[in-house]
Amino acid sequence: MELYPVYPLFDIEITKGQGCHVWDSAGQEYLDFYGGHAVISIGHCHPHYVSALQHQLTQLGFYSNSVVNRLQEQLAERLGRACGYEDYRLFLVNSGAEANENALKLASFHTGRKRILAASKAFHGRTSLAVEATDNPRIVAPVNDGGHVTFLPLNDLSAFETELEKGDVAAVIVECIQGVGGIRLATAEFMQGLRRACDKSGTVLICDEIQCGYGRSGRFFAHQHLDVRPDIITCAKGIGNGFPLGAVIISPAFEASYGQLGTTFGGNHLACTAALAVLDVMEQEKLVENAAEVGGYLLNRLQALAAEVPAIVEVRGQGLMIGIEFAGPIKEMRQRLVNGQHVFTGAASTNILRLLPPLCITMAEADEFIERLKSVI
Ligand SMILES: *Cc1c(COP(=O)(O)O)cnc(C)c1O
Repeated sequence: MELYPVYPLFDIEITKGQGCHVWDSAGQEYLDFYGGHAVISIGHCHPHYVSALQHQLTQLGFYSNSVVNRLQEQLAERLGRACGYEDYRLFLVNSGAEANENALKLASFHTGRKRILAASKAFHGRTSLAVEATDNPRIVAPVNDGGHVTFLPLNDLSAFETELEKGDVAAVIVECIQGVGGIRLATAEFMQGLRRACDKSGTVLICDEIQCGYGRSGRFFAHQHLDVRPDIITCAKGIGNGFPLGAVIISPAFEASYGQLGTTFGGNHLACTAALAVLDVMEQEKLVENAAEVGGYLLNRLQALAAEVPAIVEVRGQGLMIGIEFAGPIKEMRQRLVNGQHVFTGAASTNILRLLPPLCITMAEADEFIERLKSVI
């Protein structure tokens, strides 16, 4: 059997990782400014994370969600404290798409409605409702096109208000910093206005924090920069530092009923152990603060670089989620960054370089990145 080829690959096999660095099978070292797609939060192979998972494997790898799981309870309590939503409740799944799928489903159960509003350029995952709420027709199969979703421009409050006034919208789902969409930031005015309009129309406000959340923006959640409280928050990517896990964080206003949601693997013992170890390290090493500090420094230096380099149109972002928009395609430059400079980065569209390094990145590594970037522009 061969692999079904859906990923355009760099011809490199990564076999080892440590902190913000990875190594290929030939032993060559790379600076990881991609974090395996914003997944590596505390750094590769952190010793505390490794030993916590090793220990849990010797105790219990898996049991079903039909028995008490204290690790899930611990995670709910720790996460509630870490993010400031102690009165919310937690439902654990396996991935980002699944978190959004369940969030949208909950909104529909809660309101009895079917319509969803999402932002232009949004990405919310690849399962049925999540992909329908993703603004990319290329990945929406005919069977996913259920006609539930209306896309409106991010930050166009009056467009959202007009739709919400119709009183038939179950949920609005937003990334406060769009990832795939090219690092585009929602404004405080927009999010606060959206909150008021959702309250007025009885609509559930969902913040998809799968990429921009979990410390990456320099606050625990990106929406916390904007002074707004969503009804549901979804997380995945950084929560398990690579161990598959997704989270739906649900306001007290929702009424749970047995059997309404469920999953076989979600919140299993290994996944919860990984997530608890991630929170330990985030707290001990003050990684949210580090994301704010190093991210702010990186953003300033890159904006200064943009002022000197005509090829750079704009640098935008928050914390360790930064987009560098170029005037033309970046495919070859990104290839030179990997092969010549040994730096992994992400991309959005054809012309935006997307930086998503682990949250433990240092100032020296930020400087190193800029030097290597300069040499390929
Ligand atoms: C990655 C991502 C998802 C989907 O997560 P998966 O774990 O790939 O299903 C959803 N929303 C956002 C904003 C993402 O970045």
